Amino acid sequence: MAKRDYYEILGVSKDASQDEIKKAYRKMALKYHPDKNPGNKQAEENFKEAAEAYEVLSNPEKRARYDQFGHAGLGNMGSGFSGAGMTIEDIFEHFGDIFGGFGFGGFGSQSRRSSRSHNKGSNIRIKVKLTLSEITHGAEKKVKVQKYVACKTCNGTGAADATSFTTCPTCGGAGQVTRISQTFLGQMQSTSICPTCHGEGRIIQKKCPECHGEGIVRGEEVIKINIPAGVENGMQLSLSGKGNAARRGGINGDLIVVIEEEPHPDLMREGKNLIYALYLTIAEAALGAQVEIPTVDSRAKIKIDPGTQPGKILRLRGKGLPDIHGYGRGDLLVYVNVWIPKILTREEKRTLEKLNESPGFQPAPEKSDKKFFERLRHFFEQ
Ligand SMILES: [Zn+2]
Ligand SMILES: [Zn+2]
Repeated sequence: MAKRDYYEILGVSKDASQDEIKKAYRKMALKYHPDKNPGNKQAEENFKEAAEAYEVLSNPEKRARYDQFGHAGLGNMGSGFSGAGMTIEDIFEHFGDIFGGFGFGGFGSQSRRSSRSHNKGSNIRIKVKLTLSEITHGAEKKVKVQKYVACKTCNGTGAADATSFTTCPTCGGAGQVTRISQTFLGQMQSTSICPTCHGEGRIIQKKCPECHGEGIVRGEEVIKINIPAGVENGMQLSLSGKGNAARRGGINGDLIVVIEEEPHPDLMREGKNLIYALYLTIAEAALGAQVEIPTVDSRAKIKIDPGTQPGKILRLRGKGLPDIHGYGRGDLLVYVNVWIPKILTREEKRTLEKLNESPGFQPAPEKSDKKFFERLRHFFEQ
């Protein structure tokens, strides 16, 4: 299913301020809050969708990428939510602070706290090398990633078996402890994560022999990465949930894929455009010719007019790279050079000397070669 526009989801304009975005999200979150819509699947979907939109638009970096590239710019897994299917609990954990000012008792805090641990696995960064051809068409890459995975023996729980758990004696299973202290303002109540079970609410009596109670082991996973066409060197795609598994069933980290562009033997990239340096012989430049030049995937024939001067740039429209948001394609620019021989036989020398006497061989540049001077100025300005 196609993803909806994040601005549309929150009902704000593209130039909305951070404050407006925050307000709009609160409104949506309140409307679709699971406590107000028990058992309503559609409301839950809307609630998650709003959280995903807010996660992107509230982060200046992600928002800029989204504005520039759309959903594709956020990597194929989009925001932190879309891929791994974040739960309502995760959303509260992530944006708990935004619910703070609502004046609803316990909104997003104690009542919603999951009894599981709040561990998060670490992110993994990998580099993926791509040829210009792969960048042109988009690519599907399979990579084997060495990482922490959930322990199969204990299903990531860290316990030897289901009976190995006992309720935490310190917090009685709540995962947090409440302290009441007397101050001059009256009784003050503060809650904090239970120091004994670290918020898990239970402790393991008998640890899993395979992972020694950690719930994770070293392993590997073959991960399929869909790379959109038009990416550039250094761009990053984030695959949510594909990083290291967390200790005892927490949230997985992300896999960060850094794009590395392999240089093409003949073509140079400049944004969406490609540049090729063509060398003609003196005769080809003077007489005109049909020459072949390389393109990303094959070769193209181009016609050289008689009397073509070195420095001329020929433009092959649409033979460049696709735009990452799908706005057409760049061009292939052919920069014409003329090869001047460095070593000549006596015969060649004589021929050239003879030719040099004829009037047609005397330089006769067009009166105002404005383009040339413009190019030169542009070159110096850089
Ligand atoms: Zn285990
Ligand atoms: Zn505890």
